[in-house]
Amino acid sequence: EGHETASQPPVLRAPLGATLGYRSPDASVCQWPPPLPFMEELWDPLAPVLLLGWMALHALLYLMPVGKVTEGIVLRDGKRLKYPINGFHSLCISTLLLMLFLRLGAHLESLFELFLPLAASAIALSFLLSFYLYIRSFWAPPHDLAVGGNTGNPLYDFFIGRELNPRIGFFDLKYFCELRPGLIGWAVINLGMLMKEVELQGSPSLAMLLVVSFQLLYVADALWNEEAILTTMDIVHDGFGFMLAFGDLAWVPFTYSLQAAYLVKHPQTLSSLQALAIVALKVVGYTIFRRSNSQKNQFRRDPTHPSVSKLETIATATGKRLLVSGWWGLVRHPNYLGDLFMALAWSLPCGFSHLLPYFYVIYFTILLIHREDRDERQCKAKYGLAWDSYCQRVPYRIFPYIY
Ligand code: NDP
Repeated sequence: EGHETASQPPVLRAPLGATLGYRSPDASVCQWPPPLPFMEELWDPLAPVLLLGWMALHALLYLMPVGKVTEGIVLRDGKRLKYPINGFHSLCISTLLLMLFLRLGAHLESLFELFLPLAASAIALSFLLSFYLYIRSFWAPPHDLAVGGNTGNPLYDFFIGRELNPRIGFFDLKYFCELRPGLIGWAVINLGMLMKEVELQGSPSLAMLLVVSFQLLYVADALWNEEAILTTMDIVHDGFGFMLAFGDLAWVPFTYSLQAAYLVKHPQTLSSLQALAIVALKVVGYTIFRRSNSQKNQFRRDPTHPSVSKLETIATATGKRLLVSGWWGLVRHPNYLGDLFMALAWSLPCGFSHLLPYFYVIYFTILLIHREDRDERQCKAKYGLAWDSYCQRVPYRIFPYIY
């Protein structure tokens, strides 16, 4: 703006949206590439202080002797690692602390202005952590290394992670980063966006309330079912490198909160019917996601449990069985289907005038299709012919009759 000449007609300087009387700024999807932020927008000394304080708080909560301690799957050397299951406790204690800070006059709405500096600090932290992880992995015994993370190509190994379960004593760095600071941080950033909206508009909008509560439910659900993460690919197969460190600490909290951040400057009005339809989509998605995940976890933990013992199964050469009825008889990844319905329900409250709120659902569809393909290959290698007959019985991967 400062470079424009004084002779330019005023009407050309005003954004098109403002000229036409819209309340929100212009959608910039057609102005590609978008302008990059200035360096000073990426730096605020408060950001690294807040970020490190947040990490330290969650490290302390991880170590507190609350909740049960459980064992992970059997490792290559025959041992099983112990993990504290107190993520949900950490969420509750963080909520109480946050309420205390708010009562003491903390301005959570400042997270809106701090969004970019915090994201930049989180990216810097994930690089530092990844360098530490890469270097320390050279001192790890061979059986502690991830099978896929030791190709000898330093860039690839740095990215994918060399050591499977890097630990400092009882403190498991990968397990710690997977859910706690990033997921709870995402919920707090969302709350900051809601408070910013209240500051600007006087009250929270229905669209913002839907987005924030849907995502809070997702975070609380993940922490409530924290034990289930011990059998996921991230914990069982992948080493801890830049991919997971960046994903957990920077990507999740700062891109998953984009819908709430978008709504601050782009208020949306939802009719009751629209809101009801979106809530219904979320409820359907959550039901499929939770029930299918719980059904498989229950089956893997105790196949004789009454809730799963009557389901039809296929035997495999490994001794494990595969479910072919119930949720896992509908498609081969019903949990991904439910997750994608939920992702769409988070975007719809933001309307259709911009692509940004749909970034998550688009990225997540690509991620889950790729993840499904990766899992499919691992299952084929594990179960061979039994997997082929499962695929014949259940031909669709994620979307019934589509994919
Ligand atoms: P899954 O929970 O889908 O687990 C896949 C494993 O389940 C397979 O390797 C196999 O392992 C077992 N399995 C597959 N088919 C059957 C069957 N028919 N019967 C019994 N067991 C079967 O893995 P993910 O970790 O990918 O997903 C977990 C959840 O996390 C999902 O809901 C997903 O949507 C969500 N997620 C969310 C992300 C986000 O960023 N929001 C990112 C990634 C995942 P085995 O036989 O060895 O037990």
